[in-house]
Amino acid sequence: MTKTKAPASRGPYLESARFPSWSRTVDIDRPSTWPKYKAGMCQGCWGGCCTLPVEVSAFDLIRLELITEDEAAISLKKVAKRLIKEGVVRSFHPQVQLFILQQRAGRDCLYLDEKTRLCTVYEKRPTVCRSFPKIGPKPGFCPSVPAQPPKS
Ligand code: SF4
Ligand code: SF4
Repeated sequence: MTKTKAPASRGPYLESARFPSWSRTVDIDRPSTWPKYKAGMCQGCWGGCCTLPVEVSAFDLIRLELITEDEAAISLKKVAKRLIKEGVVRSFHPQVQLFILQQRAGRDCLYLDEKTRLCTVYEKRPTVCRSFPKIGPKPGFCPSVPAQPPKS
């Protein structure tokens, strides 16, 4: 997946994150701790990338079938108001016309399956998710953690 910017510091929000206990060497908010991405790495990954904030455009929201093209053309502020009320969007930044998707209490993306750790809207996923980790807080690196604890 792709997200543009990780939160600057560890805060109360992260304290509730369900980052696996065996992942202590990888800190989701410290890209300097992220391993280099390699092809096939997503297989069996816990999906740390899907716990980062996701920036989406109106086009992404249309593709996700959350809004119509007409709604987007009329007023993105109105769109934001509705989606924030519905708990899908956390915030809207009119200067750049971008929305931040809401996250669950444990910080997962709303579209991440809690058990399989797979995206439930893969075909319709936002553009940032398609370009991660090529584009992201540390291009070419990602907060990859195995979904299962390492065998000792
Ligand atoms: S954190 Fe990296 S390896 Fe894991 S699912 Fe995301 S892109 Fe793939
Ligand atoms: S939309 Fe899918 S790929 Fe993107 S962050 Fe959410 S679960 Fe991950």
